[in-house]
Amino acid sequence: MYGRSAVFAGVKLPITGKSTFRQMAVVVWLLAMFSCLWVGCRKRELIEPTPGMEISERLWMRVLLFEDIRACTLSAPGGFSAVDVATRSRTNFGKKDGAVEVGVSSGRIVVAGKLLGREVVIRPGRPFVVSVNGKRYRGNLRLTARADARSFDVINSLSVEAYLAGVVGAEMPSYWEPEALKAQAIVSRTYGLFIKRSFGAGRKWDVRRTQANQIYGGVSAESATVWAAVNETAGAVLTCKGADGQEGIFPTYFSSTCGGHTQNSKDVFGDSYSALVGVQCPYCRDVAKMSFYFWPMAEFEADEVSEKLIKRYPKLAGLKEIEAIEPFKVSEYDRFGRITSVRLIGKDGKSGYLRGEDLRLTVDPSGTKIRSAACEILKVGDKFRFYAGRGYGHGVGMCQCGAQGMARRGKSCEEILSYYYPGSKIMRD
Ligand SMILES: [Zn+2]
Repeated sequence: MYGRSAVFAGVKLPITGKSTFRQMAVVVWLLAMFSCLWVGCRKRELIEPTPGMEISERLWMRVLLFEDIRACTLSAPGGFSAVDVATRSRTNFGKKDGAVEVGVSSGRIVVAGKLLGREVVIRPGRPFVVSVNGKRYRGNLRLTARADARSFDVINSLSVEAYLAGVVGAEMPSYWEPEALKAQAIVSRTYGLFIKRSFGAGRKWDVRRTQANQIYGGVSAESATVWAAVNETAGAVLTCKGADGQEGIFPTYFSSTCGGHTQNSKDVFGDSYSALVGVQCPYCRDVAKMSFYFWPMAEFEADEVSEKLIKRYPKLAGLKEIEAIEPFKVSEYDRFGRITSVRLIGKDGKSGYLRGEDLRLTVDPSGTKIRSAACEILKVGDKFRFYAGRGYGHGVGMCQCGAQGMARRGKSCEEILSYYYPGSKIMRD
């Protein structure tokens, strides 16, 4: 698309002058050039077919794209068919049908005005890509009407490798070092499979597309460098010893910037895996944005903090109003350790406890103001002040900026992974 504007920017149109014919010729020439460039760009945008469509769907990743929605639009470059799961009846839509409306009526999915059953599978034709509200995703979709009969969920299912291409590019800039991207690919594959195996059996989907699990951006997150990282690490996962002493895949947590030291998972999430222990990280400081490494002070009204915490955690209701917050730090790694838990003191002197991460994400659910639990808390007048903050994210497992810092210093993907997950092994799943 860059070329299109460059042509117009580089040539000044002759608006005045005697030769109308010449003006017309210039305009025609420009239009011809514009069309060629436009067609050229369009051709380059052609999508490679989605890999892994032949693999058993049982092994695919099921991503919850939308929950509890009333309507959406669907379109597909290769057309698609809508299959009613109960009756197996199939309705085909060609690419000329454009964006088709989807809704719900009395608990049944409606596609382009056609009433189908409670559950419908959308199968796009080659290149096996479908757009939901204009955003492209690989693989199939499953539309499921909810119990309220008025809304539905959209689940995207696709091969693990195709899923990873939409994750790695959403979790890391695609221009980062190839070894950092490969480390992210192995970490995201392991994490995704762990969540699928741990929680997928009891529900219709395996992972969310948000930070609640790991970010999945579909086709728009893909790039050649990201695909190279996924392909070069195909099938590779990390294993370590769990609490039962058995070697296996584990929740390979990762976060943006650790701020100088990563954190024990036991202190943050309460689980015990041999590879999820804190390590010193001198690598993220040169890579991370300054405001991610040292974040600015964040202030919240004490009333607001109290209300949010008591609403989210009914066990704190007895405190009535939270007057003070006393942070605990298990390990003083450096000048400012991470707050692992807090004691909350109520008006009548009663107290309750919360994990540091739970406090942070309840007071600031976006996580963009209180960027990590590596900070100090002080009450000043009617406000709680979170200051001297370092790092962005929970700090457990791989520090993404640190991985880039290591790769810049010539470290391999294997070295990065064994650094942030000590004692872990790379295996083929
Ligand atoms: Zn770091």
